[in-house]
Amino acid sequence: MNVFKFGGTSVASPERFRVLIPLISEDTQKIVVLSAMAGTTNALEEISRLFAMDESEEALAKTEALRGEYHQVADELFSSLTWGEKAHDLTDEHFNYITALFSREHSRHNEKRILARGELLSSAFLHFLLSEQGIASVLVPALNFMRIDKDGQPDYFYIRENLNRELAAVRDEKIIITQGFICRNAYGETDNLRRGGSDYSATIIGAAIGAEEVQIWTDISGLHNNDPRYVENTRVVRQLSYDEAAELAYFGAKILHPSSINPARLKNIPVRLKNTMEPSDEGTLIVSGSTPEDYKAVAAKDAVISVRIRSAGMLMAYGFMRRIFEAFEAFKTPIDMITTSEVSVSLTIDDPTWLSEIVSTLGSIGTIETEKDQTIICIVGDFRPSREGSAPEIFEALNEIPVKMISYGGSDNSMSILINTSDKVVALRSLSSKLFPEE
Ligand code: ADP
Ligand code: ASP
Ligand code: MG
Repeated sequence: MNVFKFGGTSVASPERFRVLIPLISEDTQKIVVLSAMAGTTNALEEISRLFAMDESEEALAKTEALRGEYHQVADELFSSLTWGEKAHDLTDEHFNYITALFSREHSRHNEKRILARGELLSSAFLHFLLSEQGIASVLVPALNFMRIDKDGQPDYFYIRENLNRELAAVRDEKIIITQGFICRNAYGETDNLRRGGSDYSATIIGAAIGAEEVQIWTDISGLHNNDPRYVENTRVVRQLSYDEAAELAYFGAKILHPSSINPARLKNIPVRLKNTMEPSDEGTLIVSGSTPEDYKAVAAKDAVISVRIRSAGMLMAYGFMRRIFEAFEAFKTPIDMITTSEVSVSLTIDDPTWLSEIVSTLGSIGTIETEKDQTIICIVGDFRPSREGSAPEIFEALNEIPVKMISYGGSDNSMSILINTSDKVVALRSLSSKLFPEE
């Protein structure tokens, strides 16, 4: 069985919904994982933010505007009265659910419940559309099987057991539709896999069922060698290893959720990135191995914070690093990059939730400086120790840009550099022309 995930742009309009029909209705059995229509999760996040700030009139106005958009989609998508009415009723059910929440206290849980509406609506609309066209499909709710544990990690045992039970009940169905992004947490509450999480849903499902392939369908033909939002003339990378793809996803290639490669790597399931608007393009294939090349791709991760701990003479003392790491561990905050000198340690984090607590804990070790608005540039290529030269093209490209940290040697397939976010676009463009000159 294959898993097909369609992102928000692939269900952005009634026309885009229709494009999916031939892609999913050929004869093999598949699980179709859907995102919310493009823009919906942002709108729901905004509604939830207004609700949290007690701006209920604004929240209500935004909710009604979004409800209106869904009614319009329903009008355009369905040609029969029966399915049109079902879509209108379902729209009202979900938007009434949101407005009913407004009479309660705002909580993190209510926010998650609001955010879940997008995927619940898009998946039902696809199911209705196929039904209207006489194509059999079944909707299996993600909230019946997708679950994270107390640390926010997929609960694979629970997912496997529950998904397989759900699938056994629909054994003869060819098209099984479910929602990406949404899940339950360890307490059984509605939760999600964080923004962009439908990719992660798809690979978790793929790993749970031992899928032949996970296909991630989006609005671009595969992973490009640089961020096409900032750089012109980027080219598609045809094949990547899990390790290479995971580094690019983690360090900012928006086409993939940061954690989405891990489940596929765990079970050795090929991941293919495809373009909904150009289905014949082979896209990018992500598998266990790939041929090394000096440079394959560059990605950038924003909203990084650097933390520098200075403490004269302490580095030679036993246990110094342990004390630093313990401060981050105590607040469940992962460290991305780290560099050391005799008197200081610099590292980066991307989660600011516990920053002030971490800084005050570290205060007993030394002087702490933090800096926000930092960007990690990750260059994926051949960085094995046997490589000839130490990637001079990278330093030539960044000649004019203040480099704050460098991480080299930690990985055979990547090198990371910390810069100010204000220098990101120039850095990406300059790296592109040095590392990927036009043929
Ligand atoms: P979806 O809604 O299908 O999940 P996303 O917007 O999350 O789509 O991801 C696709 C977008 O990722 C592309 O339109 C592109 O702008 C952006 N992107 C960023 N970096 C890359 C890259 N290296 N290769 C391809 N796309 C990238
Ligand atoms: N709808 C969610 C988001 O916009 C999940 C996804 O699109 O993957 O983040
Ligand atoms: Mg996405």
